Amino acid sequence: MNLSSHTTALTYRRKEFSKAVKREALLRSGGLCEAVGPLYGLEPGQRCNVKLSYGVHFDHVNADSNGGEPTLENCAATCPHCNMFKAHKHDTPRAAKVKRQYDKHNGIVRPKGKWPKRKFNQPWVDNTRYIERDYDT
Ligand SMILES: [Zn+2]
Repeated sequence: MNLSSHTTALTYRRKEFSKAVKREALLRSGGLCEAVGPLYGLEPGQRCNVKLSYGVHFDHVNADSNGGEPTLENCAATCPHCNMFKAHKHDTPRAAKVKRQYDKHNGIVRPKGKWPKRKFNQPWVDNTRYIERDYDT
């Protein structure tokens, strides 16, 4: 867990890779998808190696929304499939969780409903008031 992640929910600004970083990453990849491991829907240790000539996405390995920096070390030249898989299966749910935890920690909650909750199984609450009773006997 990134130590600065508790501030990212408030001070979030997307940090894209520079052209230089993208060039370096593409060079490093050798023209093949750099995605490795289960994060991208592959077996552990397995590399995708799809040709990037079909299209390339530059992936933040540690997600941008989770404090990932736009450096070469945090950049992976991946095929669109791998990038989208990780974004949908890993990055987006994780960012949402960080936001939920941030809100909970700081007492940011949904406003209370208009009607009070129904209280069952509490003997001091009279749930029988609408039942017609015969008091004559
Ligand atoms: Zn791939």
